[in-house]
Amino acid sequence: MDNGKSVLSDPEAKKFLVEILDEEGLDVVYSLLDREATDEEIAEETGIKINTVRRVLYKLYDYRLASYVRTKDSEIGWYIYTWKLDLKRIYDLIRLRKQRLLEELTRELESMQDKVFFACKKDEKYVPFEEASELQFKCPVCEGVLEYVDSQERIQQLQEEIERLQKELSNGHY
Ligand SMILES: [Zn+2]
Repeated sequence: MDNGKSVLSDPEAKKFLVEILDEEGLDVVYSLLDREATDEEIAEETGIKINTVRRVLYKLYDYRLASYVRTKDSEIGWYIYTWKLDLKRIYDLIRLRKQRLLEELTRELESMQDKVFFACKKDEKYVPFEEASELQFKCPVCEGVLEYVDSQERIQQLQEEIERLQKELSNGHY
């Protein structure tokens, strides 16, 4: 059964998993590779608390990276949840996240071009000239003095990041 084991050898995909779960959550993922299992089986085999196992499984379910089948145990009358992974969907999630970031950065770049910015020494908040002048050059965060900043560096950084994302998105891997 291939439920996306190869995904775990992709550093970016693995990083994404660690981000939404944690190291212990990753152990749950490993124990579900290439098979189906119930939450109780996973807890027993890994020694991870059943509540933690369930939390991880539902987190995976939220991201549609795992699904379950519910059956009723006729002897004890309880419901049993048998889980399986679908890790390949992680590529959709990563792509979506990159697309969002790309949109965000593009908007930021557009808002920065052809404008002069001011900022205090402490905060990273860039205020355009008109606004800075209205604020009498006082930082809206700390009330420190707003000084002219050269935004070329940030613009260049944005351009590079946008280019990198566009390249990554067009190479078809994600
Ligand atoms: Zn400030």
